[in-house]
Amino acid sequence: MYDVIILGSGPAGLTAAIYTTRAGLKTLVIAGEKWGGQLMLTTEVENFPGFPEGIQGPDLMSNMRKQAEHHGAEFVDENFIKGNFDGSPFSVETPVKSYQGKSVIIATGVDTKWLGVPGEKEKIGRGVSSCAPCDAPFFRNKKVIVTGGGDSAMEEAIVLTRFAESVTLIHRRDEFRASQIMVDKAKANPKITFLLNSQITEILGEMTVAGVKIQNMVTNEVTEMPINGVFVAIGHIPNTKVFAGIDVDEKGFIVVHEHTRTNKEGVFVAGDVHDRQYMQAVTAAGFGCAAALEAERWLASKE
Ligand code: NAP
Repeated sequence: MYDVIILGSGPAGLTAAIYTTRAGLKTLVIAGEKWGGQLMLTTEVENFPGFPEGIQGPDLMSNMRKQAEHHGAEFVDENFIKGNFDGSPFSVETPVKSYQGKSVIIATGVDTKWLGVPGEKEKIGRGVSSCAPCDAPFFRNKKVIVTGGGDSAMEEAIVLTRFAESVTLIHRRDEFRASQIMVDKAKANPKITFLLNSQITEILGEMTVAGVKIQNMVTNEVTEMPINGVFVAIGHIPNTKVFAGIDVDEKGFIVVHEHTRTNKEGVFVAGDVHDRQYMQAVTAAGFGCAAALEAERWLASKE
Protein backbone atom coordinates (compact mmCIF):
# COMPACT_ATOMS: atom_id res chain seq x y z
CA MET A 1 0.00 0.00 0.00
CA TYR A 2 1.44 3.35 -1.07
CA ASP A 3 0.49 6.66 0.53
CA VAL A 4 0.58 8.35 -2.87
CA ILE A 5 0.54 6.96 -6.39
CA ILE A 6 1.60 9.50 -9.02
CA LEU A 7 0.51 8.86 -12.59
CA GLY A 8 2.94 10.52 -14.99
CA SER A 9 6.58 11.55 -14.89
CA GLY A 10 6.86 14.98 -16.48
CA PRO A 11 7.79 18.06 -14.42
CA ALA A 12 4.44 17.90 -12.56
CA GLY A 13 4.66 14.24 -11.56
CA LEU A 14 8.35 14.34 -10.65
CA THR A 15 8.04 17.52 -8.60
CA ALA A 16 5.08 15.99 -6.78
CA ALA A 17 7.22 12.91 -6.07
CA ILE A 18 10.05 15.03 -4.64
CA TYR A 19 7.58 16.72 -2.27
CA THR A 20 5.67 13.62 -1.18
CA THR A 21 8.82 11.62 -0.48
CA ARG A 22 10.41 14.47 1.45
CA ALA A 23 7.19 14.57 3.50
CA GLY A 24 7.82 10.93 4.42
CA LEU A 25 5.02 9.54 2.23
CA LYS A 26 5.57 6.17 0.56
CA THR A 27 5.36 7.13 -3.11
CA LEU A 28 5.06 5.18 -6.35
CA VAL A 29 5.46 6.91 -9.73
CA ILE A 30 3.83 5.11 -12.64
CA ALA A 31 6.15 6.78 -15.09
CA GLY A 32 4.94 5.38 -18.42
CA GLU A 33 6.93 3.37 -20.97
CA LYS A 34 8.23 6.66 -22.37
CA TRP A 35 8.89 8.42 -19.11
CA GLY A 36 9.70 12.12 -18.75
CA GLY A 37 6.93 13.79 -20.74
CA GLN A 38 7.19 16.47 -23.42
CA LEU A 39 10.58 17.80 -22.31
CA MET A 40 12.18 14.53 -23.40
CA LEU A 41 11.35 15.67 -26.96
CA THR A 42 12.96 19.10 -26.68
CA THR A 43 16.53 20.30 -26.87
CA GLU A 44 17.55 23.49 -25.12
CA VAL A 45 15.30 24.73 -22.28
CA GLU A 46 16.16 28.35 -21.56
CA ASN A 47 13.28 29.37 -19.33
CA PHE A 48 13.46 26.91 -16.43
CA PRO A 49 14.78 28.94 -13.48
CA GLY A 50 18.15 27.98 -12.06
CA PHE A 51 19.97 27.27 -15.31
CA PRO A 52 21.48 30.55 -16.52
CA GLU A 53 22.99 28.91 -19.60
CA GLY A 54 19.90 26.75 -20.27
CA ILE A 55 19.69 22.97 -19.96
CA GLN A 56 18.79 20.15 -22.36
CA GLY A 57 15.20 18.95 -21.78
CA PRO A 58 16.14 15.26 -21.22
CA ASP A 59 18.89 16.30 -18.78
CA LEU A 60 16.43 18.38 -16.79
CA MET A 61 14.01 15.45 -16.56
CA SER A 62 16.76 13.01 -15.69
CA ASN A 63 17.87 15.32 -12.85
CA MET A 64 14.29 15.59 -11.55
CA ARG A 65 13.89 11.80 -11.60
CA LYS A 66 17.21 11.27 -9.80
CA GLN A 67 16.14 13.80 -7.17
CA ALA A 68 12.83 11.98 -6.61
CA GLU A 69 14.61 8.61 -6.45
CA HIS A 70 17.20 10.04 -4.07
CA HIS A 71 14.40 10.89 -1.65
CA GLY A 72 12.91 7.41 -1.94
CA ALA A 73 10.30 7.50 -4.71
CA GLU A 74 9.75 4.15 -6.40
CA PHE A 75 9.33 4.11 -10.17
CA VAL A 76 7.76 1.68 -12.63
CA ASP A 77 8.22 2.50 -16.32
CA GLU A 78 4.83 1.07 -17.19
CA ASN A 79 1.76 2.69 -18.75
CA PHE A 80 -1.28 3.35 -16.61
CA ILE A 81 -4.27 1.66 -18.27
CA LYS A 82 -7.12 1.93 -15.78
CA GLY A 83 -7.99 2.64 -12.20
CA ASN A 84 -10.78 2.62 -9.68
CA PHE A 85 -11.14 6.09 -8.19
CA ASP A 86 -14.38 5.55 -6.27
CA GLY A 87 -12.78 5.74 -2.84
CA SER A 88 -9.54 5.37 -0.94
CA PRO A 89 -7.65 3.05 -1.12
CA PHE A 90 -7.49 3.39 -4.88
CA SER A 91 -6.30 0.74 -7.28
CA VAL A 92 -4.43 1.56 -10.48
CA GLU A 93 -3.43 -0.88 -13.16
CA THR A 94 -0.65 -1.19 -15.68
CA PRO A 95 -0.38 -4.05 -18.20
CA VAL A 96 2.01 -5.67 -15.70
CA LYS A 97 0.46 -5.22 -12.27
CA SER A 98 -2.18 -3.62 -10.05
CA TYR A 99 -1.05 -1.13 -7.36
CA GLN A 100 -2.89 0.23 -4.30
CA GLY A 101 -2.61 3.78 -2.99
CA LYS A 102 -4.33 5.85 -0.31
CA SER A 103 -4.20 8.89 -2.60
CA VAL A 104 -3.52 9.54 -6.29
CA ILE A 105 -2.01 12.45 -8.18
CA ILE A 106 -2.83 12.53 -11.89
CA ALA A 107 -0.04 14.16 -13.90
CA THR A 108 -0.34 12.44 -17.26
CA GLY A 109 0.18 15.54 -19.41
CA VAL A 110 -0.85 15.95 -23.01
CA ASP A 111 -0.24 14.33 -26.40
CA THR A 112 0.17 15.77 -29.89
CA LYS A 113 -2.90 16.87 -31.82
CA TRP A 114 -2.72 15.78 -35.47
CA LEU A 115 -4.39 17.39 -38.50
CA GLY A 116 -6.46 14.34 -39.39
CA VAL A 117 -6.12 14.93 -43.15
CA PRO A 118 -5.67 12.18 -45.77
CA GLY A 119 -2.07 10.99 -46.08
CA GLU A 120 -1.05 12.07 -42.58
CA LYS A 121 -1.43 9.08 -40.29
CA GLU A 122 0.47 6.55 -42.41
CA LYS A 123 3.38 8.97 -42.91
CA ILE A 124 4.02 9.77 -39.25
CA GLY A 125 7.73 8.99 -38.89
CA ARG A 126 8.09 8.97 -42.69
CA GLY A 127 8.15 12.68 -43.29
CA VAL A 128 5.33 13.71 -40.96
CA SER A 129 6.47 14.71 -37.48
CA SER A 130 5.40 16.66 -34.42
CA CYS A 131 8.85 17.10 -32.97
CA ALA A 132 11.37 19.29 -34.77
CA PRO A 133 14.08 18.88 -32.13
CA CYS A 134 13.81 15.09 -32.61
CA ASP A 135 13.52 14.92 -36.39
CA ALA A 136 15.01 18.12 -37.86
CA PRO A 137 18.38 16.50 -38.70
CA PHE A 138 16.58 14.15 -41.12
CA PHE A 139 15.62 17.18 -43.21
CA ARG A 140 19.08 18.58 -43.87
CA ASN A 141 18.92 20.72 -47.05
CA LYS A 142 15.27 19.70 -47.60
CA LYS A 143 12.08 21.75 -47.88
CA VAL A 144 9.67 21.49 -44.94
CA ILE A 145 6.36 22.97 -43.87
CA VAL A 146 5.20 23.65 -40.32
CA THR A 147 1.51 24.02 -39.55
CA GLY A 148 0.15 26.04 -36.61
CA GLY A 149 0.06 29.59 -35.33
CA GLY A 150 1.08 29.14 -31.68
CA ASP A 151 4.40 29.23 -29.86
CA SER A 152 5.04 25.58 -30.73
CA ALA A 153 4.80 26.27 -34.45
CA MET A 154 7.21 29.22 -34.19
CA GLU A 155 9.63 27.17 -32.13
CA GLU A 156 9.48 24.18 -34.50
CA ALA A 157 10.06 26.44 -37.52
CA ILE A 158 13.08 28.09 -35.91
CA VAL A 159 14.62 24.75 -34.93
CA LEU A 160 14.12 23.42 -38.46
CA THR A 161 16.02 26.32 -40.02
CA ARG A 162 19.21 24.88 -38.53
CA PHE A 163 18.95 21.98 -40.96
CA ALA A 164 16.35 22.54 -43.68
CA GLU A 165 16.92 24.50 -46.85
CA SER A 166 13.63 26.32 -46.40
CA VAL A 167 10.74 26.33 -43.92
CA THR A 168 7.19 27.38 -44.78
CA LEU A 169 4.99 28.20 -41.81
CA ILE A 170 1.34 27.71 -42.74
CA HIS A 171 -1.44 29.07 -40.53
CA ARG A 172 -5.20 29.04 -41.06
CA ARG A 173 -5.67 32.67 -39.98
CA ASP A 174 -3.71 35.89 -40.49
CA GLU A 175 -3.23 36.46 -36.76
CA PHE A 176 -1.03 34.36 -34.53
CA ARG A 177 -1.76 32.83 -31.17
CA ALA A 178 1.99 32.79 -30.49
CA SER A 179 3.68 35.36 -28.26
CA GLN A 180 5.02 38.40 -30.08
CA ILE A 181 8.61 37.60 -29.19
CA MET A 182 8.35 34.18 -30.88
CA VAL A 183 6.62 35.63 -33.95
CA ASP A 184 9.33 38.29 -34.22
CA LYS A 185 12.07 35.65 -33.94
CA ALA A 186 10.48 33.56 -36.70
CA LYS A 187 9.91 36.60 -38.92
CA ALA A 188 13.53 37.64 -38.50
CA ASN A 189 14.73 34.27 -39.78
CA PRO A 190 15.42 34.50 -43.53
CA LYS A 191 14.76 30.78 -44.08
CA ILE A 192 11.13 31.03 -42.87
CA THR A 193 8.31 32.01 -45.25
CA PHE A 194 4.79 32.60 -43.94
CA LEU A 195 1.70 31.29 -45.71
CA LEU A 196 -1.37 32.71 -43.98
CA ASN A 197 -5.11 32.10 -44.28
CA SER A 198 -4.24 28.66 -45.57
CA GLN A 199 -4.46 25.06 -44.41
CA ILE A 200 -3.12 21.68 -45.42
CA THR A 201 -5.92 19.47 -46.72
CA GLU A 202 -3.90 16.44 -47.84
CA ILE A 203 -0.38 15.09 -47.52
CA LEU A 204 0.84 13.65 -50.82
CA GLY A 205 3.29 10.85 -51.57
CA GLU A 206 3.39 7.06 -51.60
CA MET A 207 5.69 5.87 -48.82
CA THR A 208 7.10 9.25 -47.82
CA VAL A 209 6.02 12.87 -48.06
CA ALA A 210 6.24 14.31 -51.58
CA GLY A 211 4.01 17.36 -51.19
CA VAL A 212 0.92 18.89 -49.65
CA LYS A 213 -2.43 20.14 -50.91
CA ILE A 214 -3.12 23.61 -49.58
CA GLN A 215 -6.46 25.35 -49.39
CA ASN A 216 -6.63 29.13 -49.29
CA MET A 217 -9.22 29.90 -46.60
CA VAL A 218 -10.29 33.16 -48.29
CA THR A 219 -10.60 32.09 -51.93
CA ASN A 220 -11.02 28.32 -51.31
CA GLU A 221 -8.48 27.76 -54.09
CA VAL A 222 -6.54 24.50 -53.70
CA THR A 223 -2.91 24.30 -54.81
CA GLU A 224 -0.16 21.70 -54.49
CA MET A 225 3.26 22.36 -53.00
CA PRO A 226 6.16 19.91 -53.33
CA ILE A 227 7.65 19.36 -49.86
CA ASN A 228 9.83 16.79 -48.08
CA GLY A 229 8.53 17.11 -44.53
CA VAL A 230 5.42 18.19 -42.63
CA PHE A 231 5.68 19.30 -39.00
CA VAL A 232 2.38 19.47 -37.14
CA ALA A 233 2.29 21.96 -34.24
CA ILE A 234 -1.41 22.65 -33.71
CA GLY A 235 -1.75 21.97 -30.01
CA HIS A 236 -2.26 19.04 -27.72
CA ILE A 237 -4.80 16.56 -26.42
CA PRO A 238 -4.85 15.82 -22.68
CA ASN A 239 -4.16 12.23 -21.65
CA THR A 240 -7.44 11.69 -19.82
CA LYS A 241 -9.29 9.03 -21.81
CA VAL A 242 -8.31 6.40 -19.26
CA PHE A 243 -9.81 8.22 -16.25
CA ALA A 244 -13.38 6.99 -16.06
CA GLY A 245 -15.38 8.93 -13.47
CA ILE A 246 -12.99 11.90 -13.23
CA ASP A 247 -14.61 15.16 -14.42
CA VAL A 248 -13.10 16.64 -17.60
CA ASP A 249 -14.02 19.78 -19.56
CA GLU A 250 -15.22 19.95 -23.18
CA LYS A 251 -11.63 19.61 -24.46
CA GLY A 252 -10.86 16.67 -22.17
CA PHE A 253 -8.74 18.55 -19.60
CA ILE A 254 -9.35 17.49 -16.00
CA VAL A 255 -11.55 19.90 -14.05
CA VAL A 256 -9.99 21.24 -10.87
CA HIS A 257 -12.61 21.66 -8.19
CA GLU A 258 -10.50 23.31 -5.51
CA HIS A 259 -6.75 23.49 -4.90
CA THR A 260 -5.71 20.68 -7.29
CA ARG A 261 -8.62 18.47 -6.14
CA THR A 262 -10.63 16.51 -8.70
CA ASN A 263 -14.27 15.50 -8.23
CA LYS A 264 -13.02 12.32 -6.50
CA GLU A 265 -11.92 12.75 -2.92
CA GLY A 266 -8.28 11.76 -2.52
CA VAL A 267 -7.51 12.16 -6.23
CA PHE A 268 -5.49 15.25 -7.12
CA VAL A 269 -4.29 16.65 -10.44
CA ALA A 270 -1.20 18.52 -11.57
CA GLY A 271 0.29 19.94 -14.77
CA ASP A 272 -0.73 20.19 -18.43
CA VAL A 273 -3.43 17.52 -18.02
CA HIS A 274 -5.57 20.19 -16.33
CA ASP A 275 -3.77 23.41 -17.29
CA ARG A 276 -4.38 24.58 -20.83
CA GLN A 277 -3.54 28.15 -19.96
CA TYR A 278 0.22 28.10 -19.33
CA MET A 279 1.59 24.67 -20.24
CA GLN A 280 5.13 25.47 -19.14
CA ALA A 281 7.57 23.13 -17.43
CA VAL A 282 7.86 25.51 -14.52
CA THR A 283 4.10 25.91 -14.05
CA ALA A 284 3.67 22.14 -14.29
CA ALA A 285 6.34 21.73 -11.61
CA GLY A 286 4.53 24.31 -9.46
CA PHE A 287 1.25 22.46 -9.83
CA GLY A 288 3.06 19.23 -8.92
CA CYS A 289 4.24 20.82 -5.69
CA ALA A 290 0.72 22.10 -4.92
CA ALA A 291 -0.88 18.70 -5.56
CA ALA A 292 1.69 16.98 -3.32
CA LEU A 293 1.02 19.42 -0.47
CA GLU A 294 -2.74 18.95 -0.88
CA ALA A 295 -2.38 15.15 -0.90
CA GLU A 296 -0.21 15.33 2.22
CA ARG A 297 -2.78 17.51 4.03
CA TRP A 298 -5.65 15.32 2.94
CA LEU A 299 -3.89 12.14 4.13
CA ALA A 300 -3.09 13.80 7.47
CA SER A 301 -6.75 14.80 7.88
CA LYS A 302 -7.80 11.17 7.41
CA GLU A 303 -5.52 9.82 10.13
P1 NAP B 1 -1.78 26.67 -29.22
O1 NAP B 1 -1.26 27.90 -28.56
O2 NAP B 1 -3.09 26.12 -28.80
O3 NAP B 1 -1.80 26.95 -30.78
C1 NAP B 1 -2.29 26.00 -31.67
C2 NAP B 1 -2.30 26.61 -33.05
O4 NAP B 1 -2.65 25.61 -33.99
C3 NAP B 1 -3.29 27.75 -33.19
O5 NAP B 1 -2.71 28.81 -33.91
C4 NAP B 1 -4.44 27.10 -33.96
O6 NAP B 1 -5.07 27.98 -34.86
C5 NAP B 1 -3.75 26.04 -34.78
N1 NAP B 1 -4.63 24.91 -35.01
C6 NAP B 1 -5.34 24.18 -34.12
N2 NAP B 1 -6.02 23.18 -34.71
C7 NAP B 1 -5.74 23.30 -36.03
C8 NAP B 1 -6.14 22.55 -37.17
N3 NAP B 1 -6.96 21.49 -37.08
N4 NAP B 1 -5.66 22.93 -38.38
C9 NAP B 1 -4.82 24.00 -38.49
N5 NAP B 1 -4.41 24.74 -37.45
C10 NAP B 1 -4.86 24.39 -36.23
O7 NAP B 1 -0.75 25.43 -29.06
P2 NAP B 1 0.84 25.42 -28.90
O8 NAP B 1 1.49 26.29 -29.90
O9 NAP B 1 1.22 23.99 -28.86
O10 NAP B 1 1.09 26.06 -27.46
C11 NAP B 1 0.46 25.51 -26.30
C12 NAP B 1 0.94 26.25 -25.06
O11 NAP B 1 2.33 25.98 -24.84
C13 NAP B 1 0.82 27.76 -25.17
O12 NAP B 1 0.45 28.27 -23.93
C14 NAP B 1 2.21 28.20 -25.54
O13 NAP B 1 2.50 29.52 -25.12
C15 NAP B 1 3.06 27.19 -24.81
N6 NAP B 1 4.38 27.04 -25.48
C16 NAP B 1 5.38 27.87 -25.07
C17 NAP B 1 6.63 27.80 -25.66
C18 NAP B 1 7.72 28.71 -25.20
O14 NAP B 1 7.47 29.55 -24.35
N7 NAP B 1 8.93 28.60 -25.69
C19 NAP B 1 6.87 26.88 -26.70
C20 NAP B 1 5.81 26.05 -27.11
C21 NAP B 1 4.57 26.16 -26.48
P3 NAP B 1 -6.01 29.17 -34.34
O15 NAP B 1 -5.07 30.19 -33.78
O16 NAP B 1 -6.72 29.61 -35.57
O17 NAP B 1 -6.92 28.56 -33.32
